[in-house]
Amino acid sequence: MTQHPDTLCVQQGWQPKNGEPRVLPICQSTTYKYDSSEHVGDLFDLKVPGHFYTRLSNPTAEAVEKKMAALEGGVGALMTSSGQAASLIAILNLCNSGDHFIASGSLYGGTTNLFDVTLKKLGIGVTFVDPYATAAELQSAFKPNTRAVFGETIANPALTVLDFEKFSRAAHAHKVPLIVDNTFPTPILCRPFEFGADIVTYSTSKYLDGHAVSLGGMIVDSGRFDWKASGKFPGLTEPDPSYHGLVYTEAFGDAAFIVKARAQLMRDLGCAPAPMNAFLLNLGMETLHLRMERHCRNAEAVAAFLEKHPAVAWVNYPGLPSSRDAALVRKYLPHGTAGVISFGAKGGRQAAVRFMDSLKLAAIVVHVADARTGVLHPASTTHRQLTDEQLAAAGISPELVRLSVGIEHPDDIIADLDQALSKT
Ligand SMILES: *Cc1c(COP(=O)(O)O)cnc(C)c1O
Repeated sequence: MTQHPDTLCVQQGWQPKNGEPRVLPICQSTTYKYDSSEHVGDLFDLKVPGHFYTRLSNPTAEAVEKKMAALEGGVGALMTSSGQAASLIAILNLCNSGDHFIASGSLYGGTTNLFDVTLKKLGIGVTFVDPYATAAELQSAFKPNTRAVFGETIANPALTVLDFEKFSRAAHAHKVPLIVDNTFPTPILCRPFEFGADIVTYSTSKYLDGHAVSLGGMIVDSGRFDWKASGKFPGLTEPDPSYHGLVYTEAFGDAAFIVKARAQLMRDLGCAPAPMNAFLLNLGMETLHLRMERHCRNAEAVAAFLEKHPAVAWVNYPGLPSSRDAALVRKYLPHGTAGVISFGAKGGRQAAVRFMDSLKLAAIVVHVADARTGVLHPASTTHRQLTDEQLAAAGISPELVRLSVGIEHPDDIIADLDQALSKT
């Protein structure tokens, strides 16, 4: 019987045997001791499971990977040092120089830079598509060398909701996988494999960690994409010369993608998580189900309050009944849309700055999605080099405030926002 996500959050991953520590231990060791060199040779040849060097795998990270794979319903997971590393490895595992992929234009800024600047320098092309593109427009973005489609379930910071059906249909019609960054909903609010995604990526630095204590990333493999039938992925279906001719689909079947990501790309790129960070991530995830519920209920109350407030010009929260994405939310995110809201104060940039400077409980931070309520004014911080025209092109109006609603009592959050709005 598969257990509920709440139980998996608490119990999955580390299951101690008789007399072992009850709590997941931090295996702060780069190396592992074996009795014979033959055994180590078999480990290197991927013939037997086991750890031999922490860049490749570590028992603390492995426990969190197992928890994550169970929560998503995948065949395996790979933890990375950050969300950026997870996006990088997910793409490089499918695309070589000369290949191309399609991404929703509504993405995290760091991901946009990675795709649009750094991957292009490596010879991998990307076409960004409007998340609201029609099926026909999406279709026209495909090229013969397209190898993947990428989107975010709830995009950071635009908060657009991915139309899974439209994106997965297009990807599968062209025999390529759909990769979904599920950072904001977490598996508590959305499990993308149920809606046609093939690979899921995360920045675990946000809600999964939940306390803003450690950077991390995760890649989860559904095991459902048929690499052989596609015929477009020789890296998975033909011999790997860097592994003396190993064929990932033959040796590892459904888990070919995630084994290759670890054995080849983690080996070569080295963006491995620290065991201590894996421990902290696991600790955060033990309360994920409780925190996500509270983030959602608090943000719903805050969004409804802001929408009615006379000093507020507009509110963008996918969980509001008035949201442009309300139909997509009903379909894909029926339990809630996490805790991030953006809104505009009447009075433009000046009003936004006065509002932020008057807050007492909500802190000004360049982060989202942790237990504490935080705010950011992109026009005066992360995007301050841009003119108002450039801000508009990036979808960021000068008055936009991004609010990450925490898990404090909702009345206290609303009281703080109310007193600060009275000063605008
Ligand atoms: C923060 C974030 C990332 C990048 O993750 P890091 O852990 O900061 O490297 C990627 N995608 C989304 C949606 C994010 O919010």
